[in-house]
Amino acid sequence: LLLLGIETTCDETAAAIVRRRGDGSGTILSNVVRSQTEAHAEYGGVVPEIASRAHVEILDHLIALALRSAGITLAQVDGIAAAAGPGLIGGVIVGLTTAKALALAANKPLIAVNHLEAHALTARLTDKVPFPFLLLLVSGGHTQLVAVTGIGEYTKLGGTIDDAIGEAFDKTAKMLGLPYPGGPEVERAALKGDASRFALPRPLHGKPVPDFSLSGLKTAVRQEALKIAPLSDEDVNDLCASFQAAIVDILADRTRCALRLMLQKGLKPNALVLAGGVGANQAVRRVLHKVAADAGTRLAVPPPELCTDNGAMIAWAGAERLARGLTDDLGTAPRARWPLGEVEGANSSAPG
Ligand code: ATP
Ligand code: MG
Ligand code: FE
Repeated sequence: LLLLGIETTCDETAAAIVRRRGDGSGTILSNVVRSQTEAHAEYGGVVPEIASRAHVEILDHLIALALRSAGITLAQVDGIAAAAGPGLIGGVIVGLTTAKALALAANKPLIAVNHLEAHALTARLTDKVPFPFLLLLVSGGHTQLVAVTGIGEYTKLGGTIDDAIGEAFDKTAKMLGLPYPGGPEVERAALKGDASRFALPRPLHGKPVPDFSLSGLKTAVRQEALKIAPLSDEDVNDLCASFQAAIVDILADRTRCALRLMLQKGLKPNALVLAGGVGANQAVRRVLHKVAADAGTRLAVPPPELCTDNGAMIAWAGAERLARGLTDDLGTAPRARWPLGEVEGANSSAPG
């Protein structure tokens, strides 16, 4: 199956062509991403109206580019997938409406993909991970631990009760005067810093439900920063290192808890799958490798460019759904809010 995938839920405009073979393996033929980071940088965060306008301006061009670099025409694809949510509604409308128009014009099936499902399934493209697995989704907008037992079979084990982890990275960076987006900046500064200098909290540590809470950690960083202001470069590095060390501990503890819960449910995870932009962080990857190995499983993490928002993950999720006969009609509505638990699946989930 050849799928065109379209992603416009946040601040990346993306289109990609992906092939899925009958044996469940996949190949990316093209994957074009245009990040709007610069357009939002001066505001220190994503401005929804600017985002939707930028999607409108560039999306047609990116789709043409994705087809051209894959060396195919629209007539050759078997389906057109677009992220139908959750996300900034203006952007979702742009991507989904474009997909509907192309599906109608080219007489192809439409697959309305849940953006979170796409993050969840990416490891099946890159690492051939069979069900069941534990998904740790950590991005700018989401922090969740999900037991994935099939397409459309997502059981949320825990999530954040306040900020997302990527958001905590971004807010901490902003507070310390580092540029947006903050995640990579904090990671870079942390490499040069002393993680033991500041004692920061690890909220919900040891709690039996794998939920997260980040706002207390963020506040603690602010209080430490205020105490020593004005901040030298060394102070900033040490604060970043201490913050990142806290995040690493929190992720390890909460993920261990979720792995235990899965085993209690009789589900032996074939992998711990890390997805979302925070998955690009090396310290996070390192600790989760260990957490997975300690639990007798392995860490599967897509390459960084497939951890952050992209079109290939949408095309792949579209292919996984189309392979099981799951398509959507042209009346499908875009959704700002769309929890994974509400994604519909196949009646009989195909093995592997
Ligand atoms: P969504 O939550 O809807 O998936 P998003 O665009 O916020 O949307 P991603 O593009 O997956 O999510 O990830 C962006 C987030 O990842 C940002 O918060 C960014 O700071 C964070 N991030 C990126 N690289 C790193 C890094 N090296 N270390 C820590 N955080 C990072
Ligand atoms: Mg993004
Ligand atoms: Fe995302």
